[in-house]
Amino acid sequence: MKLHDKTFVPYLSETAVLQAVEKVAQAVAEDYKHQTPIFVGVLNGAFMFVADFLKAYQYPCEVSFVKLSSYQGLTSTGIVETLLDLPENVEGRSVIILEDIIDTGRTLKELVHLFADKNVKEFKIATLFYKSSVYNGEYTIDYVGLDIPDKFVVGYGLDYNELGRNLKEVYQLNQNQMINLVLFGKPGAGKGTQAEFLKEKYNLKHISTGDVFRYNMKNDTELGTLAKSYIDRGDLVPDEVTIKMLQDEVEKNPEASGFIFDGFPRTAAQAEALDAFLAEKDMKINATIALEANDEVLIQRLLERGKVSGRTDDQDENKIRNRFEEYNQKTAPLKEFYETQGKFHSVNGIGAIDEITLRLAKVIEEL
Ligand code: AMP
Repeated sequence: MKLHDKTFVPYLSETAVLQAVEKVAQAVAEDYKHQTPIFVGVLNGAFMFVADFLKAYQYPCEVSFVKLSSYQGLTSTGIVETLLDLPENVEGRSVIILEDIIDTGRTLKELVHLFADKNVKEFKIATLFYKSSVYNGEYTIDYVGLDIPDKFVVGYGLDYNELGRNLKEVYQLNQNQMINLVLFGKPGAGKGTQAEFLKEKYNLKHISTGDVFRYNMKNDTELGTLAKSYIDRGDLVPDEVTIKMLQDEVEKNPEASGFIFDGFPRTAAQAEALDAFLAEKDMKINATIALEANDEVLIQRLLERGKVSGRTDDQDENKIRNRFEEYNQKTAPLKEFYETQGKFHSVNGIGAIDEITLRLAKVIEEL
């Protein structure tokens, strides 16, 4: 089945979905059938769930809706805006949120805040689908219909860019069509420049860990403050921090046709973490492509770039040499890691930008 540019494969039948709805309704009824709770559905995704839930819940109750919209930029929290606010009469009442799906828990946090000062008697969370493997664990999820793996799903209220909400069954994104690339090479090799072209050509999402760090430093986030001292010296930021950040960036783009990883992985631990993380999502790296150029050319390029970009780590030859040293010690050994997997490709990174793009495209098209 195709929605917009992507294909989806059947995942849950209508019967399986309705069984999960029934399960939630029964569990809630056990606890609330002697009260009159207010069910609050979260729009748009939960409309079908709320309708079938109420048909399965034949006890006194009220129903209402809220609508939130999440914009996901480069920050790890994202910004969530309230579009339709709470019902007035929640004070002293038992409120049960009805969510279609809970994954990372980002939207949930905003929901909980909405109710924080409302003096409700009880606040419970019920969700039809739950991705326990990516949930941040901040709040207890009280009722769950079905725990599902971390794959992009549509149907039964859930959409891909607004299509698919009317499907009675649930479908999964067909991950086999994805292309995930690692662009490999020393600082200044042209990874960022080439990624800009490749992402357009192949409809991929470009994740540059250096860019994400710089964005966070510019905005004075906690992550930015943490990374700054390392970046200023030309050292690598600790794996723990970088891996977590990378995972967040991938998770913000569940419907991507594929990713270009630029500046990640840079250590063996990062490469292993990336493989494990992608495997959980039924994804994999298709190819690692190295842009090759010698140090003297690279140093000249970086110093030139430093004049216009304002990047302090590009303006000082000692810092640049330290970054090369980090690369030689920690990143270069990854060549063998990807060679063992039969995924390593090498491209001459010296020449005109469009010629290099063609060299890269040739490798990608032969995959
Ligand atoms: P880049 O823009 O890729 O040259 O990255 C700039 C700086 O960000 C690097 O020198 C590191 O301090 C930090 N950085 C970027 N990516 C990583 C990574 N994968 N692991 C650790 N540090 C990183």
